[in-house]
Amino acid sequence: MKGKIIIISAPSGCGKSTIIREIMARGNVDLKFSVSATNRPPREGETNGVNYHFVSTEEFRAAIANDEFVEYEEVYPGRFYGTLKSEIIQRVEKGEIVVLDIDVKGGVRVKELFGNEALSIYILPPSVEELRHRLEGRATDSAEAIDQRVSKAEYELGFAPEYDCRVVNDRLEKAVEETERLIIDFSSGKQTF
Ligand code: ADP
Ligand code: 5GP
Repeated sequence: MKGKIIIISAPSGCGKSTIIREIMARGNVDLKFSVSATNRPPREGETNGVNYHFVSTEEFRAAIANDEFVEYEEVYPGRFYGTLKSEIIQRVEKGEIVVLDIDVKGGVRVKELFGNEALSIYILPPSVEELRHRLEGRATDSAEAIDQRVSKAEYELGFAPEYDCRVVNDRLEKAVEETERLIIDFSSGKQTF
């Protein structure tokens, strides 16, 4: 049987990575993470090949020229992120459930490409103020980068209606359970979109 693609999008700091990590740790559904390529530098604690394939701008451009991406976006000025064909195509053919942590434009694009083989989930913050608070608490970005991410969030929230489902990440455990349930129901064929 063919596998599925799970698209998880949200403005930066809404808790996508935390939710994906928790669902993978719970082990109720066997998710394979699609490791994207990016030319942004690694944050403390990030590992090449695990969180991202960290590449130079030249390497990213070469991958575009070689048609290695399903999609890619310049998510922030000069910062490119892309979903590699090698991370998803063969895995879905093998029957695996592949999860993508991807920006809103990329998410909409992948859903268009894969149709009912893909489930798109939008993680919403309880409020924009709480989002800023979480980004400050995460302490991985400069004050300038946080301002940039928060102002972009207001624009990105406009894409939420284009997703198959929306989950508010207010209480983490509830958001994890809700997201996990959507993934299990979709991948077992109980729910289609
Ligand atoms: P994203 O991957 O969407 O950029 P993260 O998963 O890195 O976001 O989460 C941003 C910050 O918010 C992290 O410090 C994380 O621990 C925290 N966080 C995530 N979910 C919640 C929640 N429900 N309540 C409070 N803090 C949260
Ligand atoms: P961060 O720098 O916080 O890891 O990610 C910034 C943004 O880029 C997030 O919204 C994340 O979902 C998005 N992103 C990560 N990988 C990809 C990708 O392969 N394609 C696209 N379009 N966005 C991505």
